[in-house]
Amino acid sequence: MSGTSLRVAVVGAGIAGATCARTLADAGHAVQVFDKSRGVGGRMSTRRVTLDSADADAVLGLDHGTPCFAVTGAEFLDFVEQGQRAGLLARWTPRLASHSAGLPGGVMWVATPDMPALCRALLKDLPLRTLCTVDGVRRSGATWSLESAGATVADGFDAVALAIPPQQAAALLGVHRPDWAARAQAVPMLPVWVLMGTTDAPATGCDWDLALPASGPLALVVRNDAKPARAVLAGQAQWVVHATPDWTGAHLDTPADQVQAMLQAALADCVGDALAWRFAAVHRWLYATLAAAPGDEPADGAWWDAGMGLGVCGDALAGGGVEGAWRSGRALAALVTAAASGDQT
Ligand SMILES: Cc1cc2nc3c(=O)[nH]c(=O)nc-3n(C[C@H](O)[C@H](O)[C@H](O)COP(=O)(O)OP(=O)(O)OC[C@H]3O[C@@H](n4cnc5c(N)ncnc54)[C@H](O)[C@@H]3O)c2cc1C
Repeated sequence: MSGTSLRVAVVGAGIAGATCARTLADAGHAVQVFDKSRGVGGRMSTRRVTLDSADADAVLGLDHGTPCFAVTGAEFLDFVEQGQRAGLLARWTPRLASHSAGLPGGVMWVATPDMPALCRALLKDLPLRTLCTVDGVRRSGATWSLESAGATVADGFDAVALAIPPQQAAALLGVHRPDWAARAQAVPMLPVWVLMGTTDAPATGCDWDLALPASGPLALVVRNDAKPARAVLAGQAQWVVHATPDWTGAHLDTPADQVQAMLQAALADCVGDALAWRFAAVHRWLYATLAAAPGDEPADGAWWDAGMGLGVCGDALAGGGVEGAWRSGRALAALVTAAASGDQT
């Protein structure tokens, strides 16, 4: 590495990667972002659904990744409030179901009009390549190249930032930093089956937006249409339902149609209504959330090898969740920038 402006490849366009890329670009580095998905946002995701309706096609978005997030740190609150002023984030104070096990506590936040909106805004005007699964990172001389499906997709980078879940990062790290690969592989991540869909409004009525059932297969039930800036269809209810990690673990390989039927039945029990479904789908997240902070998190919230120009960030390195991912992305960008400045002296 030389000079203060580095060419940096950021792999992963979730909140960690988007934050890292934006912070690096603002510091004057030339950043290119790669993601395997069609869009950005990672686990801050929204499934777009077109429903047949009597009048016209109704398009709505169901937030099947993180439904909302909390804010604890002052710096993150500052960032979130800036996002609110820019119309990208909104406060949400859901009405809790009386049969809920516990309260998430405090105000929650959602991105608007959908969850990936925040990452889209952070990545605005940055070079981005989607539908590109990076399956190898190669160092030749002082620069890095990225590989996908046996071909080099980009090269000439001074540094690579991996902003992907730890188990996926491990596969790319093995050759370069086997110690990191082993640590990443060991990070405990929880899987979650998610049911999303729309029904006719429950006949029993439903005076809550969020439920945390105390027992059974469901961990969380969200009325997606009660969140700020979401489409509301008259006479209908929109649901996003998370199974518990234990239930998910026991049904990891159960066919999706069976999982869907079981979660629909569990939701009907929770709501106290048979529910007439208009649309339903399930999604299995293998690495949804951090099980618990591993206890050996890096103090900076990111891993950085200045000698190689290789770094890792993501929720798992900074306590988990959207806030952890944001902190980690920023931390890695700061480490890269500090190393670049140090090179000049
Ligand atoms: C169901 C669910 C519920 C959640 N609930 C909450 C909650 O209530 N509160 C909270 O704070 N957080 C919650 N989270 C967690 C939160 O969404 C994550 O902590 C955060 O979004 C992680 O951001 P990230 O950038 O670290 O990773 P990700 O969002 O996973 O981003 C990684 C990106 O890398 C891409 N990628 C992966 N491998 C490759 C590859 N080889 N090549 C190219 N691209 C690749 C992926 O497509 C993805 O876009 C929840 C998550 C889920 C799934």
